[in-house]
Amino acid sequence: MMPFIEQCRQLLGDDYLLTDAATMGGYLTDYRQRYTGRALAVCRPADTNELAQLIALCNQYQVAIVPQGGNTGLVLGSVPDQSGSAVVISLRRLNQVRALDPVNNTITVDAGCTLQQVQQAADAANRLFPLSLASEGSCTIGGNLSTNAGGTAVLHYGNARELCLGLEVVTPRGEIWNGLRGLRKDNTGYDLRDLYIGAEGTLGIISAAVLKLFPKPQSQVTALAAVSSVEAALDLFHFIRSHGNDVALTAFELISAYCLTLVQKHLPQMKAPPLTNHPYYVLIEFSSQQNEIATMQSLETVLQRALQNNLTGDVVIAASLAQSAALWILRESISDAQKAEGKNIKHDISLPISQIAEFIAETDAQLQAQFPGSRMVTFGHVGDGNLHYNVSAPENSDVDAFLLKQNQINRVVYDSVARHAGSISAEHGLGALKRDDIVRYKSAVEMQLMRTIKLALDPNNIMNPGKVVMPQP
Ligand SMILES: Cc1cc2nc3c(=O)[nH]c(=O)nc-3n(C[C@H](O)[C@H](O)[C@H](O)COP(=O)(O)OP(=O)(O)OC[C@H]3O[C@@H](n4cnc5c(N)ncnc54)[C@H](O)[C@@H]3O)c2cc1C
Repeated sequence: MMPFIEQCRQLLGDDYLLTDAATMGGYLTDYRQRYTGRALAVCRPADTNELAQLIALCNQYQVAIVPQGGNTGLVLGSVPDQSGSAVVISLRRLNQVRALDPVNNTITVDAGCTLQQVQQAADAANRLFPLSLASEGSCTIGGNLSTNAGGTAVLHYGNARELCLGLEVVTPRGEIWNGLRGLRKDNTGYDLRDLYIGAEGTLGIISAAVLKLFPKPQSQVTALAAVSSVEAALDLFHFIRSHGNDVALTAFELISAYCLTLVQKHLPQMKAPPLTNHPYYVLIEFSSQQNEIATMQSLETVLQRALQNNLTGDVVIAASLAQSAALWILRESISDAQKAEGKNIKHDISLPISQIAEFIAETDAQLQAQFPGSRMVTFGHVGDGNLHYNVSAPENSDVDAFLLKQNQINRVVYDSVARHAGSISAEHGLGALKRDDIVRYKSAVEMQLMRTIKLALDPNNIMNPGKVVMPQP
């Protein structure tokens, strides 16, 4: 491998080819620090041309490539395996905003720009780039598109796929495909852009993208409402959508009472509003082009009507931006509170909205029957049909012994997801973590079509091998 490494060094320069364990360290371990792989080298190209030459070199020497953006992925897609034969290609030096077209409402950015950088560039032009994740300070646009990221604004604006108009991609042979089109209509054959989005780096490397921008909402108001059940939460969702007048419902997040208990226990500085005890709560956000008073009135009116129709218990409406931020922080603290309570088994699943209540009731019961005392930490973007359906060990039990049952618990949850016509990965992708699970839940035909695409676009299987789909059944 020396000639390969030496040629990489010549191409990138000493500073941007990392080969010793100490400097490679952070690139080899996943965000949750559950896994550390090994690599021949970490390569940090400066721009698309350098990236293309690097990939051509990898192809010539048949060296496997692991693309990496911010390394915030949660399914082991961005870290190498144990073979030590792959290179990690970090895109973080490709970090320029190339253009912003305020009339077309588009921004063209390098793939290594962080999501926050793109949000800020849009904001500076009085526009909104609505993708929003808790990891936005570190995750990159290339990673967001490769995982088709979701987050908190999907309900109104869609996920990363719906926010992208064009791509620039370097193929596994090192060719550059310039598809940086800012078109909202373009029916000229197979949609290559849609193939690369969500491919988790298994078909090529995204080097730049054209993204959609939106007018900035003039006001956003937030409320927390108590509800008597998951069914009631979904009835409220439907009611607000049907009666919300001119304002957009931009978030509708389900939070179980147990989630709030955990936040209060581990993060007592996060004050939950004084609502009466209910099994579930929903965080509701309205956005509009009206001023704040008008938006607040719309929210109050619709919630009052919901109250009269017995769709909600008591409600707290944030009276200021600070109160609104506090409600969101409460929601975003659930993961940290759960982590502080101890290790747990996470499921990021999606279901048709009409199936959610039945899914939760049935699956909770099955888990209690088979793993008595399991604690359910259920929350999520329920307006998108996306649940974080996490399972913690029974109180005062041996957590490590409980974690040994992970495969059995996953099977109960995923089989139930399949019975309710859902997906075992709503947002995070398959990576290496769910690659084998998915074979059970997609049909043989669908798996074979995926393999066919993989083989056609990456015949030497050098792009992120071992992730998403294996070339052979
Ligand atoms: C605190 C926290 C909160 C999160 N919240 C959300 C959330 O709400 N919604 C959500 O969807 N996700 C969420 N995530 C997961 C993660 O942030 C997203 O998946 C994000 O899109 C990954 O971006 P990244 O740049 O870090 O990609 P990485 O982790 O570096 O890579 C992810 C995958 O994409 C591939 N990849 C990366 N860049 C490229 C590229 N340029 N071309 C081709 N392939 C590439 C990698 O090989 C890997 O398979 C969260 C993660 C954390 C840590």
